[in-house]
Amino acid sequence: MNGPPGAGKSMLASRLPSILPPLDPRELLEVSMVLSVAGHLADGELTDRRPFRAPHHSASMAALVGGGLQAKPGEISLAHHGVLFLDELPEFQAQALDALRQPMETGEVLISRANHRAVYPAKFQLVAAMNPCRCGKATEPGYACRTRPNERCMAGYQAKISGPMLDRIDITIEVPALTAADLILPAAPEGSAEVAGRVAAARARQSARYAALGLPGGTTNARCPAALLDDVARPDASGLALLRSAADAMRLTARGYHRVLKVARTLADLDGEEQLGRIHLAEALSYRSRIDQAAQAA
Ligand SMILES: [Zn+2]
Repeated sequence: MNGPPGAGKSMLASRLPSILPPLDPRELLEVSMVLSVAGHLADGELTDRRPFRAPHHSASMAALVGGGLQAKPGEISLAHHGVLFLDELPEFQAQALDALRQPMETGEVLISRANHRAVYPAKFQLVAAMNPCRCGKATEPGYACRTRPNERCMAGYQAKISGPMLDRIDITIEVPALTAADLILPAAPEGSAEVAGRVAAARARQSARYAALGLPGGTTNARCPAALLDDVARPDASGLALLRSAADAMRLTARGYHRVLKVARTLADLDGEEQLGRIHLAEALSYRSRIDQAAQAA
């Protein structure tokens, strides 16, 4: 999420667990095991609500990915089966962000210390937020950044996030500042409960699809092995033509290409459609374009 301070990015992120399906018993057991190892189960409170972790950008690498003297689980494992929110992403240590890349692919993290070696689960939904530039206001009409022109201030700030990190982010959105006019608008027709219902239905479709292919229960599109993608996310002819031309124009990496297919598969699941259409690919590509432009500029 890219937007000025006060646009509501943190609020949006913290509400994400409210539209995610509750933890199933197997997930709840895994989450409670991680909490127990981390020493966070003292108050004995367990809920089926998905974890939400929001470490500060000053967090050490050990606090983020795990480690320290006792090789304890880090924030990415405490966010297992839930949401890891990194606010002000460019302010995190580059080394700490690089350490996220492997767990983002494999869903687990290996902690090695002199006397300890542990593998912890770390299947988290990463949500990150950033201001448009270091001063935060480059996109405000009439605002002049300290580094001029404003475009240069924005590019310099976005370049702090590495290309490989950006390549692993599937959806980018602009979150504009709220205006007084926005506050007068009628309330959204759907509340969290209705949206959660649509998410649950899309998850159920995915789970059934992958169970039929012999994968473990609860498998999501995000965790679909690349080898199966051609079978489960095959676009129609016009969707394929769009994808081919966009892959060239946007210079998608192989990883980027697969990630677009997975997002499009999820959009089709939300629509209740088995066939991946051009509209699903166009939307998935639109969420990516800005990242690839920024990565190429960096
Ligand atoms: Zn600026």
